[in-house]
Amino acid sequence: MLNPVEYSKKIEKIVTKGVERKYYRLVRPARFYGGISSSDCSGCNLRCIFCWSNDLAREGKMGDFYSPEEVFNALVRYAKKFNYTQFRVTGNEPTIGREHLLKILELVDQTNYSFTLETNGILIGYDKSYARDLAKFNNLHVRVSIKGTNEKEFGKLTLAEPNAFHLQLQALKNLLDEGVSCHPAAMLSFCGKKEKDALLKKLREIDETLVEDFEEEYVFLYSSAVKRLEKFKTKPIKTFSPNRIPEELI
Ligand code: SF4
Repeated sequence: MLNPVEYSKKIEKIVTKGVERKYYRLVRPARFYGGISSSDCSGCNLRCIFCWSNDLAREGKMGDFYSPEEVFNALVRYAKKFNYTQFRVTGNEPTIGREHLLKILELVDQTNYSFTLETNGILIGYDKSYARDLAKFNNLHVRVSIKGTNEKEFGKLTLAEPNAFHLQLQALKNLLDEGVSCHPAAMLSFCGKKEKDALLKKLREIDETLVEDFEEEYVFLYSSAVKRLEKFKTKPIKTFSPNRIPEELI
């Protein structure tokens, strides 16, 4: 099974070159968060069986290198074009390539735009100094997307060592300790109410606000995600078709 911290180092070698990071799509408009300028990076430290990113992009084998300035300028360009006030780097795991990400955040912090960091939390949970670095930015909000509701489910869904599940919860704790604006989301397509409630209990033990701000996440049936689920012979309990996503999940 994959050790996601060790695997991050391997992926980082593939997707970073100095302060540059590899992206498979420099910029696009997205309807989430009421409209957000989005860049899609390459390379992730997990292997989720429901992932909609394609295999080559996830393994960092697809895309081109861009400097933080090039990514920032592209995000601004699309924000102006579509009248957005928010940015994000998504597609894979944006915390890989720390120097690159922090430089983008520095640039965003000199503007009135806000940045949502969508992360699986592994690297922030592993290294508290990452949360300390993120605490320097005022225009930042972190959304930690928890994969599954417990260790066993995490292992099955991400193909990673089950005990790495706790790093996602630790990420939230580290962020709160450092005063970083954050909230948890969790993939609930593969579990029942009992498992969800057990996760909420764990979050409550860290901080009550994590339960108040808790966001439910479900598999959206993009063709790439459907193919991947078929490959792993796994059927989620609850999913949504991409053109019928409920308003509250957008
Ligand atoms: S779903 Fe997210 S965390 Fe999981 S493999 Fe895909 S990009 Fe990585």
